[in-house]
Amino acid sequence: MTGRQGIHRFSVGDLPCVVISDGRLEPPLSEFFTPATGVPEHELREAASREEGGRTTVTCGYNCLCVETPAGLAVIDTGLGKRFFGYGPDATPLVGRLTDGLAEAGFSTSAPAAVLFTHLHEDHSRGAVWSGEPTFPHATPVAHAAEVAFWSDVACPAPRDQRRPALDAIRIFGERLRPVEYDAEILPGVHTVDAAGHTPGHTAFLLESRGERLLCLGDSFHHRLQLSHLGWRTPWDHDAERSVLSRRRLLGRAADENLLVHAYHLPFPGLGLVRRHGDGFGWRPVDG
Ligand SMILES: [Zn+2]
Repeated sequence: MTGRQGIHRFSVGDLPCVVISDGRLEPPLSEFFTPATGVPEHELREAASREEGGRTTVTCGYNCLCVETPAGLAVIDTGLGKRFFGYGPDATPLVGRLTDGLAEAGFSTSAPAAVLFTHLHEDHSRGAVWSGEPTFPHATPVAHAAEVAFWSDVACPAPRDQRRPALDAIRIFGERLRPVEYDAEILPGVHTVDAAGHTPGHTAFLLESRGERLLCLGDSFHHRLQLSHLGWRTPWDHDAERSVLSRRRLLGRAADENLLVHAYHLPFPGLGLVRRHGDGFGWRPVDG
């Protein structure tokens, strides 16, 4: 591991990578798992005391993964952006650090050739459009075709506070937005993987170079407790059943193929290995 606070460099084969923190928030655990999403309060309390040392808050990271491919720099997910008031005034100084972090890592905002979105929730996409203009003017925005179609549909069933920022991003990107499918190599060494459930076009990215591989899981899980409790959902999972199936399948693949995993919302830098443990999985953080 090298780098300053909030900047973590490593590599996957010949692909230099850097995780840049957009910031972090410390919400109560009870905002992630609620009786309404099928997690009874007493079960949450017991799991927190058994597996989290009694901790009742979450360190929610916003870990943006940047990859230097032969076709240029790609940024995977872009954080909440600057001047973010959506989660209340306290959030503003804590997030929106991606571009400062990129500059510290030696990249200007004109460096990225692509921005890849696991999905278009605002904590992943707003960093690319917060000013009303594309933050990375030379980057091609990439998202799954089903993701773009879902948010663009006039009958979209998602809550307004989720749909509005997704539509803003789609509008600001305009014709530059490149819709992709699953199981495609979208940049050299960067493949899309089906992770639908959290949103209809939710996408994982598999980086592969010289026999080394990393699976970037986006919001396939938000918290370590979802590895030991695979059925636990968050209020932001659009299709609850499908998100659980996706989580089980992707974590199973990560464990069986011994893949390095990148998890967007775990504490910085969000890198780790997954191991099978009983009917679920365990998480071992690593430096990459
Ligand atoms: Zn998220």
